[in-house]
Amino acid sequence: MTVLAKNLNIAELVARDTAHHFHPFTDHNAFHAEGGARVITQADGVWIWDAKGNKLLDGMAGLWCVNVGYGRKELAEVAYRQMLDLPYYNTFFKTTTVPTTELAAKISANMPERFKHIFFVNSGSEANDTIVRFVRHYWKLMGKPYRSQIIGRRRGYHGSTMIAASMGGMEGMHGQGGLPLPGFHHVQHPYWYDFGRDLTPDQFGLEAAADLEKKILELGPENVAAFIGEPIQGAAGVLIPPKTYWPEVQKICRKYGVLLIADEVICGFGRTGNWWGFQTLGFEPDIVAMAKGLSSGYQPIGAVAFSDRLIKDFFDKGEEFYHGMTYAGHPVAAAVALKNLEIIEDEKLVERVKDYGSYFAEGLKSLNDHPIVGETRSVGLIGAIELAKDKKTRARFDKPGRVGTLCRDHCFNNGLIMRACWDTMVLAPPFVISKKEIDEMVRLARIALDKTYQDVK
Ligand code: PLP
Repeated sequence: MTVLAKNLNIAELVARDTAHHFHPFTDHNAFHAEGGARVITQADGVWIWDAKGNKLLDGMAGLWCVNVGYGRKELAEVAYRQMLDLPYYNTFFKTTTVPTTELAAKISANMPERFKHIFFVNSGSEANDTIVRFVRHYWKLMGKPYRSQIIGRRRGYHGSTMIAASMGGMEGMHGQGGLPLPGFHHVQHPYWYDFGRDLTPDQFGLEAAADLEKKILELGPENVAAFIGEPIQGAAGVLIPPKTYWPEVQKICRKYGVLLIADEVICGFGRTGNWWGFQTLGFEPDIVAMAKGLSSGYQPIGAVAFSDRLIKDFFDKGEEFYHGMTYAGHPVAAAVALKNLEIIEDEKLVERVKDYGSYFAEGLKSLNDHPIVGETRSVGLIGAIELAKDKKTRARFDKPGRVGTLCRDHCFNNGLIMRACWDTMVLAPPFVISKKEIDEMVRLARIALDKTYQDVK
């Protein structure tokens, strides 16, 4: 594979990047000290190449999104054809485009019966912003304007806009820009490894759910609009809740009339071995946020699915939703997303995730004997490796994130992209990964763990 575009002078490009490109979520000190950005030039299947010709196995499918794998010509062709036919039109003021409508119907067809209405946005953050505006206005229309408080979880991640970051529970993000905004609250995340003490995971799942009930009672149930959660918390470190957790959370939400929102931005479209994470984790949300896997990252697009009950109430009141983005339901993004969902169906990729998920789990488990691995866990093709100073007591290394970053850098330098969430290493490869490539991913992970161990022992 050719990795360099014609006449590309990489040193100059990196210098221009350093001079002009302000990167998101980037440690700028390390970035400058290490000589600027790593330039990714090409990709195919589960592999990416940088401009220096290094080949890396992308164990993160980009940012948890390239589910059908890189190099899908059919997606490029669909985008090209749609651009020639109709490069843009909007969906405001009683208008639509063919792929936008087809995509809404296709998403709905892959959801439980009650989700018939899909609202389009451009990202996961916008999906969650949209939900907050909708639920607060919904309760106002229902004669309960005081039901405005939103509850999320510590270390939840729902995006980077002011509202999405307020819903999320990332302390670092809250420290910038005066967040969380008023009206957002956070409860215990179901992270048995760090917080479970000597409880069984199931006991701890109930304890974590009870913290939601405590918060609802503290705020006054009549003031609470909704609770939001990722079925599996991704950016927190792939926190797979104990099986007691979600059914109990649902029970609590129903008891107090609190709307239940599933943020399926990572879990949706097959990542956990079912179309939706809520199916794997066993709960029934009222509203679903989605993005990433909707187009496998080939185009920016997100969406919100609203259950019939909410839509009926809303439409019955005859009010317009004063909300929408210029590019929402963009015909090119919608055409690509539609084709992406067809690929997932035609190639039975959700079934493949379930099937290969057990092979992936076995691969991760084979790392449990490593001196700095405290636990491995996975569901479908999303998994985590906990780095521990003491395997038995689950004690962490000093300075959270230090050892994780070392391990992540060793991965990068040895041909694997594995992300560090503090000291939890996470993996979410494309669904098309083969068993041989899973073996290779685990082999490269072990090399990085060995090198990390040498650094810290
Ligand atoms: N929700 C979850 C669970 C996510 O993981 C992310 C992004 O990683 C978002 C929302 C935000 O999506 P976006 O980056 O498309 O705004």
